[in-house]
Amino acid sequence: MSFKVRGQRVAIIGGGEEALNKVRLIAKTTAQVVIVSRQIEADFSGFAVEVHERRFVPSDLDGVVLVFVAEQGADAELAKATARARNIPLNVVDVPAECDFYTPSIVDRAPLTVAISTEGDAPVLARLVRARIEAMLPPGFGKMAGLAGGLRKRVESLIHTGPARRRFYEALVSSPQVEAAVAASPIAGRFAAEVLLEQHQTAGASAGIVWLIGAGPGSEDLLTLRAQRLLQQADVIVHDQLVPDVVVQMGRRDAEQISVGKAKGHHSFSQAQINTLIVRLAGEGKKVARLKSGDPMVFGRAGEEISALRKAGIQYQIVPGVSAALAAAADTATPVTLRKVSSGFIMATAHGADDSDLTHWAALAQAGLTLALYMGKSIASEVARRLVAHGASPSTPVGIVVNAGRPQMTTYSGNLSSLIAWDDILADGPAIIFVGEAVAAGDWSNAAQLAAQNFKVA
Ligand code: SAH
Repeated sequence: MSFKVRGQRVAIIGGGEEALNKVRLIAKTTAQVVIVSRQIEADFSGFAVEVHERRFVPSDLDGVVLVFVAEQGADAELAKATARARNIPLNVVDVPAECDFYTPSIVDRAPLTVAISTEGDAPVLARLVRARIEAMLPPGFGKMAGLAGGLRKRVESLIHTGPARRRFYEALVSSPQVEAAVAASPIAGRFAAEVLLEQHQTAGASAGIVWLIGAGPGSEDLLTLRAQRLLQQADVIVHDQLVPDVVVQMGRRDAEQISVGKAKGHHSFSQAQINTLIVRLAGEGKKVARLKSGDPMVFGRAGEEISALRKAGIQYQIVPGVSAALAAAADTATPVTLRKVSSGFIMATAHGADDSDLTHWAALAQAGLTLALYMGKSIASEVARRLVAHGASPSTPVGIVVNAGRPQMTTYSGNLSSLIAWDDILADGPAIIFVGEAVAAGDWSNAAQLAAQNFKVA
């Protein structure tokens, strides 16, 4: 239940910190607050409230619609008895048994409000839940509610069936363009919404869309909030093998899941088949989450998928993700750029180490920047050999992170010459190979040593 206090009188008996907390809460409304206590200790000067430093008298509750008692003693008892006798809802701070109502923890995205209550039992838990919900709802989300409210008449006149309207509103609240516009100004928001409404009408209610979503390195809490929101709306989730199940399961429970994985030994979809698949699904009017590991634009074959979608005239959006190299840098506290040591870093494929792509290797070996090499695990020694052959110093620090950003993360450290000599097997899972002087500045103290000649961690 939400209680309307606009213009109403709310009484607080008490003058300390707890009374002040209630004032903070009610000050967000347009209620008139009256405070009565013999001991006004807290500073209420920042609030438009009436403060009476005296004993409580029953007439203080005349015309009052809610009472908070935030002190103990004779005045408090009299206030409680008066409130009960007059049937005015009463809240006694920290005494759930004496309360007629509780004030929940709230997430305020006015006019959207989320209330979390533990019926007075565990406010700390409520605050924790609140923090999580806060994180889920972007700050401008409430403005979206205002926008949707303002559009209602117009939507009713243009879209005639309930399901079609619902689809429109879903598209509205999940559109990053509308979200950005409404955050800028109500008029910009309205304009963006009108554009969407128009698209919705011309494309018909059944227009599909493909979201190319970066899933991050493989832990569900490294997904962006936007990715999470869109996963909740997708009808179909088309994911790569590299995206762990925990992340796929963040999607709507009843969404269809299609793995187009490139599992070793198991027949996987060709890129052309994936392109055809997502075009077909969106063409059927479905909302497709194309979930890729890390960031979709980094070694994700996004280029091919985007061009197929463009060709077919299908709407798409791209949601960035935490690329593996950045998760690996975080895991090992390695600053990939470092003043006076490395003025940049290169995300490069290590694949084709056995190709004779000489320019690729020469450029990498001589860049003098930190290298983050993808897809190089099974050919790691060969990669090191190539770099040295093209002029990199054998003593250049190397760090390898297997399963970056995941619970089972494993690291190795050494240098190019020790990696060349390395003939053991690296742990199971995808890996990033870092090469460069800045690597030595990371924390590799838990790393397995690649060989005898390791660099020393400063
Ligand atoms: N789009 C992805 C990269 C896909 S290519 C991204 O931005 O991260 C696949 C390569 O990514 C793997 O061969 C490996 O080098 C790297 N990779 C993906 N996930 C990884 C992880 N959790 N830890 C380390 N490397 C990872």
